[in-house]
Amino acid sequence: MDLGVRPPIRASQREDLVPEYWYNILPDLPKPLPPPRLPDGSIPPRSMFERLFPKTLVDQEVSSERYIKIPYEVREILIRLGRPTPLIRAVGLERFLGTPARIYYKYEGVLPTGSHKINTAVAQIYYNKAEGIERVSTETGAGQWGSALALAGALFGVKVRVFMVRSSYNQKPYRRVLMELYGAEVIPSPSTLTRFGRAVLEKDPDSPGSLGIAISEAIEDVLSDERARYSLGSVLNHVLLHQTVIGLEAKKQLEEIGEEEPDYIVGCVGGGSNFAGLSYPFVHDKLKGRSKTRFIAVEPKACPSLTRGVYTYDYGDTAGLTPLLKMYTVGHRYRVPPIHAGGLRYHGDAPTLCLLVDEKVIDAVAYHQTEVFEAGRIFAMSEGIVPAPESAHAVKAVIDIALEAKRRGEKVVILFNLSGHGLLDLQGYKEYLEGRLQDYEPEVIDLSYLPKLSE
Ligand SMILES: *Cc1c(COP(=O)(O)O)cnc(C)c1O
Repeated sequence: MDLGVRPPIRASQREDLVPEYWYNILPDLPKPLPPPRLPDGSIPPRSMFERLFPKTLVDQEVSSERYIKIPYEVREILIRLGRPTPLIRAVGLERFLGTPARIYYKYEGVLPTGSHKINTAVAQIYYNKAEGIERVSTETGAGQWGSALALAGALFGVKVRVFMVRSSYNQKPYRRVLMELYGAEVIPSPSTLTRFGRAVLEKDPDSPGSLGIAISEAIEDVLSDERARYSLGSVLNHVLLHQTVIGLEAKKQLEEIGEEEPDYIVGCVGGGSNFAGLSYPFVHDKLKGRSKTRFIAVEPKACPSLTRGVYTYDYGDTAGLTPLLKMYTVGHRYRVPPIHAGGLRYHGDAPTLCLLVDEKVIDAVAYHQTEVFEAGRIFAMSEGIVPAPESAHAVKAVIDIALEAKRRGEKVVILFNLSGHGLLDLQGYKEYLEGRLQDYEPEVIDLSYLPKLSE
């Protein structure tokens, strides 16, 4: 009988592990964050943001406070919905790879809509409700963000309208059903509800839609209804702030099982919110010179903003309606190939994440989707969980790091974010199993059409 002491393989999920404060990285950045700008170079007035978002979220967007209190009601709902989420050692994956690395993952897929996005949806709807807003409008691609916002709206009694990219609306009926079950109004975009949508349909009655068109429709919808506000599921500072519950919990959970600081922290990046949510509380320690952790952001080769893009000012949406943000971008007119990881098909990334990549605090890697789905299959067979195609990007990077550790005989500690499960994404896995998945090389990256802003 082996009486040797083994480290625990799963941290506890005590309620008190859910933080009472979010961590705001803005005051700790190595440089001030370049502000949003208008095409003429000026800084947009605060009123412009207040027309789109509740005031408290506009405050959070530019706050210099390191810790921001999580409202009691928000924290309570997060606990009811399943926080703290599990932190699990991937022993099965370690054995499969034969690696001396210790691999841990934070699993956000246990939350009711299957991903981390509910963490910010609850907070955003709470502030809208508190400021008397009756309705929130948003866009969704594959439906992860739309279903999270729909659930939060149901919990607080705030109406939610979701403009869903028409091709997904037709191809992914189950996400739509989920949103409607939560009481949200789901409208295929382009729609006849907005002037912009009608203009698109006039030119192209069979338009499959795009995230950019859907964003433009949601914004136009909000601007025509004084009691409505807009809601975004990633990229903005306040969204990343709300996601730091992930990393704050993980820190305490790692401590609890006696694990030192991770050597690597890994996450996939669409707009950057799940990656930042897990990593920023640890990036804080690195910026203070207290840790040597390496941070790895993982993106698709088909949409390689961090690895092939340029750090410059670009619009947040495809139509060019929003202010410009300084970010790594492949250009808002970039035609993102139809990869299955819909949540990673965004032309830019969160401005704080881009600054940290530019400052070499965070590294980025990119993969093709076939190798990503292969990693997803390995994870499903060794750990039991089918990763969302987005999350499988992180799994692929973790496998590569763990195999490198094996070659070098190094007992490194890896922590990664399993941002969601893939049980509503089985079509992609089906194509993978049938050998029908296609890999896409990046399209030509042309940024010549962007306004030239001096910095
Ligand atoms: C939306 C989504 C992502 C990408 O968005 P981020 O803001 O970069 O986190 C990643 N994983 C899952 C499961 C998602 O639903």
